[in-house]
Amino acid sequence: MHADDNVAIVANDGGLPPGTVLADGLVLREAVPQAHKVALRDIAAGGDVLRYGVPIGRAKEAIAAGRWVHERLLDMPAARTLDGLPMATGAGVVQPPLEGLSFQGYRNADGSVGTRNLLAITQTVQCVAGVVGIAAERIRRELLPQYPNVDGVVALEHGYGCGVAIDAPDAVIPIRTLRNIARNPNFGGEVLVVSLGCEKLQPQRLLPPGSIPLMNGGADEPDVVCLQDDAHVGFQSMVDGIVARARVHLARLDARRRETVPASELVVGVQCGGSDAFSGVTANPAVGYCTDLLVRAGATVMFSETTEVRDGIAQLTARAATPEVAQAMVREMAWYDAYLQRGSVDRSANTTPGNKAGGLSNIVEKAMGSIVKSGSAPIVGVVPPGERATQRGLLYAATPASDFICGTLQLAAGMNLHVFTTGRGTPYGLEACPVVKVATRSELARRWHDLMDVNAGRIADGEQTIEEAGWEMLRLLLAVASGERTWAERWKLHNQLVLFNPAPVT
Ligand code: CA
Repeated sequence: MHADDNVAIVANDGGLPPGTVLADGLVLREAVPQAHKVALRDIAAGGDVLRYGVPIGRAKEAIAAGRWVHERLLDMPAARTLDGLPMATGAGVVQPPLEGLSFQGYRNADGSVGTRNLLAITQTVQCVAGVVGIAAERIRRELLPQYPNVDGVVALEHGYGCGVAIDAPDAVIPIRTLRNIARNPNFGGEVLVVSLGCEKLQPQRLLPPGSIPLMNGGADEPDVVCLQDDAHVGFQSMVDGIVARARVHLARLDARRRETVPASELVVGVQCGGSDAFSGVTANPAVGYCTDLLVRAGATVMFSETTEVRDGIAQLTARAATPEVAQAMVREMAWYDAYLQRGSVDRSANTTPGNKAGGLSNIVEKAMGSIVKSGSAPIVGVVPPGERATQRGLLYAATPASDFICGTLQLAAGMNLHVFTTGRGTPYGLEACPVVKVATRSELARRWHDLMDVNAGRIADGEQTIEEAGWEMLRLLLAVASGERTWAERWKLHNQLVLFNPAPVT
């Protein structure tokens, strides 16, 4: 990965047996599994193990060239402090604009653009989720056939709304997350809310006047069905009430048509999950190249996953477009450091057992592979958790690395297209937004042929360059944004929304 590296990973399916002679004459002293590291040179005890040109650990013992370098041989370097970072040094690469790229999207009244035309049902509290789920099933079965331009119904179920410390300072995060998800561009400005009635998160607290301008055909206020309303006599009446309100929104959504819009209307969230040592070699560099293309086309790209980029903070603050952006990044990381410390988090708990089986020794190595999804452009803004992005270009959306929480927060930030890379394999999907899944290895892409949308393993196989993979990804993203369905959409595969609630539960 870098000229200074003293380890490299085995790309071959199934790994390599002892005695294998590599192209430069190095002989493997033991079996090395696929994606795992082999020492290219003798490394002294206490010496730096270098991958991506950075020390990912110190050797616990002398490691001879040709040995398997696994996590048990490495001491993890300490986390870098947030002091004395290089701030906005001009490290971001500004490339010429890319003109003429477009897709077919749904233009919304607020100027945003949807890649899907979905009816969302916002819920103030988990208590209503069962009733809303049944109503949504009825809407799908009975109403959707009458509104063929509507792609689906999304019941925005979550665990929040009551039994929580709603006035705690950090409660602002889950509340604004729910508010901003209701505004997601894929929901066409139609906001239907189902409330229980007695919950802490009252509809007017979730969506105060003016919080979502131009919603509901200009009505500028949410359409609320309250289950405890005296008008509802029994369960059937509640379901009927929701279905009746859904008709009004479906009629407006159904009248919409896709139109040609510039690629600058894309708001792409990039994420990884179930990573392996290939992630930073194939899928993430291809995504990074595509990120640069999207930024050149004027689009918004958000990268996230605070705990998985924390060890690369110096690269990120250097790439910030301004000192203010670098400061905002440091602020978010410091907040997260404190949050983790409050919970006595062990830094070695990320990586997962699967990451380790996939050759990732520790969080430093994982972070170096994760961060390349962000490409090389200057970082022009920071989106705090649950906030909506308000500018174009490359943004750091501060979120946990949890796949579901990151996806949920990127939806709140206004994401209309999601790119997700995986090496171990996960069937991840979101109901509110198409998810393009990228495999890091050809073996995974073959085995999960009807789940993976892109095989970046071809880069390691020598069949494709990172540049070719990045361009191909861009073309696929424009097609998916225009309505082409992903594998997850074809199977109706999706995960739940999971809110980030750092505040206490009562
Ligand atoms: Ca993740």
